[in-house]
This record gives sequence, C-alpha cells and structure tokens, in this order.
Amino acid sequence: MIGPEAASQIEYFARALRAPRISEAFRRLGDQARDAGWSHEEYLAAVLSKEVSEREASGAALRIKAARFPGFKTLEDFNFEHQPSADRNLIAHLGMSVFLTEAKNIVLLGPPGTGKTHLAVGIGIKAAKAGHRVLFDTATGWVTRLQEAHSRGKLAAELTRLRRYSLLIVDEVGYIPFDQDAANLFFQLVSSRYEHASLIMTSNLPFSRWGDVFGDLTIASAMIDRIVHHADVISLKGNSYRLKNHEPAATTAH
Ligand code: ADP
Ligand code: MG
Repeated sequence: MIGPEAASQIEYFARALRAPRISEAFRRLGDQARDAGWSHEEYLAAVLSKEVSEREASGAALRIKAARFPGFKTLEDFNFEHQPSADRNLIAHLGMSVFLTEAKNIVLLGPPGTGKTHLAVGIGIKAAKAGHRVLFDTATGWVTRLQEAHSRGKLAAELTRLRRYSLLIVDEVGYIPFDQDAANLFFQLVSSRYEHASLIMTSNLPFSRWGDVFGDLTIASAMIDRIVHHADVISLKGNSYRLKNHEPAATTAH
C-alpha cells in the first residue's frame, strides 16, 4: 500500500505536469507492480506510458475532428477487391504519411462513386493519427474560404496560416466550374503549397478537361504542372460503388 503522503504528492505533481492520467493510474498500477514484482523502472514506464498513449489518442481524435472530414471512412474499410485499379501497396504506403514529410501531393481521378473521397479521407485519417494537421473541404468550399479572406484583404495571411496544415484535401475539383477570380485564388493556393506542404485532390475529370473547369488553359496547365511535379496520380476506374447493390434485378415481381 502506498502512504497517503506519497499519494497526495503524486497527485500534486501530476496536476503540475497537467498529466491527469497519472493520478488516475498510479494506484492501480502500483498494486499490479507489487503483485507482479515489477522493478521501479518498469512501474515508472507503465505509469508514463498510460499518460502518453492516452494523450496521443486524444490528440489524434482532436485532429480528426478538426479536419472536418465528411464522414469517417478508413483505409481498413476500403474494399480493394472491388476496386482493382487502386494499387493496394501504394495506398498502404501513402497511409504511412511519408509523402507529407516530402510535401508530395496525391491526385485521385475517376468517375463518381469509384472511391476517391473514401481514399482521400482514409489517407487523411492516417495522417491525423500520425500527428499531422489536416483540413478537408470541397474545391468550392476552399474557393469560398479564399474569397472571404481576399475580400478582407487577408489572403496572404490565410495562405500562410494554411501552410501550418501538413495536408489539405480538396475534394470534387470539376463538379462546379470556377470563374476567373476563383481560378486565380485556387492557383494561389496550389502555388503557396508547392514544395512546402501537401495536397490531396480528387476530380471526376481527367487533367485534359481541367481547362474547362478553370476557364483558362494557361492557369490550368500551370496549376497541374505544380501539382503533379511531386505527386502520385491514381486513376480509379469502374462503376459506382454507390450503385453496386442497386443493379436491376434479373426478374421483377411486378
Ligand atoms: P467518389 O468520391 O469517387 O465519388 P466515394 O469515395 O464517395 O466516391 O464512394 C462512394 C461510396 O461508396 C462511399 O460511401 C464509399 O465509402 C463507398 N465506396 C466506394 N468504393 C469503395 C470500396 N472499394 N470499398 C468500400 N467502400 C467503397
Ligand atoms: Mg467524392
């Protein structure tokens, strides 16, 4: 049994260190240590590990919440049998977040329902768990955010702030075409991250059609150039997963 004086000292130190799990765990682990005959060092390691592992888990949960993913889609939930054009090894490697330390990009191309958003979110969740700050929005959402900053005269500050995120996910490039101003703002976002921080972009359109989206072939090709210079481009094929269970039945009852 631990003396009351030592216990209250530990509680005081745990508060001073802002390490509440130490207060919660030290008695129980102390009993376990006595029963199992742990060394002092083993006991200390067990107590510290309790604090650190729970801190990491709650940090990851906070980063996942802050990322504003549209849903919790993990790489573990992705069915690679259904999507053979997604290279399982490449995706697993991207899930290890090395691309972020090299400020590389990922582009996911393919028709609707082929798993682009799912894979982007899955890679984003891995990044958040690995300690990276991530932010998700649609292309239209990003443009709105940049327009707001621009109208307040704060575009440069916003771009600098966004560079503190290791990963921005830009979903659905191509669904809605941009006007000239929006295209320019978007180009600035891409330029500001070039060789500094990563982007994941998804699009239903091949690069050859991005000129239509941005209304300007020069802007589109300058942008594609910067995006793909250091990037993995993944082209997904096939039919929509959303429609997978809605194929017309061979026979109908009526
Ligand atoms: P896209 O962004 O390409 O339009 P999504 O990633 O949103 O498609 O996929 C549509 C739906 O189908 C989502 O609910 C997603 O989780 C699911 N889905 C797509 N492909 C797969 C897959 N290979 N394995 C598991 N779920 C998938
Ligand atoms: Mg999508």
